[in-house]
Amino acid sequence: MLFPLLLFAQGKRPLVWVIDAGHGGHDQGTKGKNITEKEINLKVSQEVVRLIRKHKPGIKVITTRKSDKFVSLAERCRIANNARADLFLSIHVNWARKKNLRGTETFYAGNNGRPKRGNPNASKSELLARLLQNNYAASGRPIYRGVRTNRLYVTANTNMPAALTEIAFISNSADAAYITTDKGMKETARMIFNALMEYYTTTQNKTHTKTLSTLRSTRDKKSGVKNSIRVSVNSGGSSPIVVEDEETDTKQAKAAEKKTEKAKSAESNTGAKQAQSKKPQAEKTSKPAEKTAKAETKTAQKTSAKQQKAKEAQPVFSIQLFSCTAEMKQKDKRLKGVWPVTFAKDGKKLKCLYGGTTDYQKIKNQLKTIRKKFPDAFIVAYLGEKSITTAEALKIINEKKK
Ligand SMILES: [Zn+2]
Repeated sequence: MLFPLLLFAQGKRPLVWVIDAGHGGHDQGTKGKNITEKEINLKVSQEVVRLIRKHKPGIKVITTRKSDKFVSLAERCRIANNARADLFLSIHVNWARKKNLRGTETFYAGNNGRPKRGNPNASKSELLARLLQNNYAASGRPIYRGVRTNRLYVTANTNMPAALTEIAFISNSADAAYITTDKGMKETARMIFNALMEYYTTTQNKTHTKTLSTLRSTRDKKSGVKNSIRVSVNSGGSSPIVVEDEETDTKQAKAAEKKTEKAKSAESNTGAKQAQSKKPQAEKTSKPAEKTAKAETKTAQKTSAKQQKAKEAQPVFSIQLFSCTAEMKQKDKRLKGVWPVTFAKDGKKLKCLYGGTTDYQKIKNQLKTIRKKFPDAFIVAYLGEKSITTAEALKIINEKKK
């Protein structure tokens, strides 16, 4: 492995930020009438990346996917951890059965985010989450539950300040009408970018502790931190669990379900106000140090683009638990505690899939565990979005080795 660190060993190491577009490939996330979550996530992420690169060229921005391809949750974390990133932001779109629910919310792993070890990045993660929600609110976007602590997979398994932001409810007609337009996506990206710039300034000036306490004391109740686990909304790749943790998580989920029931209150967001995008603070930076960093960043990008291409041509293995006619929520009883799952089209039916890895041995081991609950489960393979046989996948892998 060539660590980016080596490339920067001679200059000052630039800040590395990872922007993660949720879902992709056969994992489409939630979906609206003519658009899937994975498409919105990618578009908004790409706009956020463009803004950072334009206004803060000294920051190295890494994306977990540049196109419509499947990337497992573990891989997303690995990308960020290997790059020793300074920030991780995952972008998602929400869904709820209750069609009146709308607005934005942002999750981060609190101090309990890492069982036993505690989370050293809790306060910076909280700062990021609060700045995001603050910017949504300032731009007139409705707030759903504001800032929330939660042990989502990507916030719990990344070693840096991290947040997962839900930018709208596709299940709500007003939110959908907004977020599925180019204007809505661009404005949302601008709000996220503004929050990131505020995060940058406060952490660089080391005023983040003060900023955080100000944000905590000035936020309204809706944006307050509530320690409950989200169970009722969203499906797809943002769920916190791996099979091994299943028992603890089920307990937590049950406790949380009770809490959520209580906490659930009818939202009364009046504002279908179109968001007003703030102008970015122009940066007066063209210091030599940043220029060097920029050149180095380019080298690093070239390398990662190559690696990216190699990866795209790699088959991904998942486990098919069963086939069904409709998607179900994460933690649905029928999943018997096995989740996160994704749903992929299979003619008129849907395949319910667990896991995603390029490592065949690993998926074989996972299958052993899964078969205790789903005796008929089997391994499926994908090349990009295309379903291929396991034999074909193995053939491709073997040919690459030669
Ligand atoms: Zn999602």
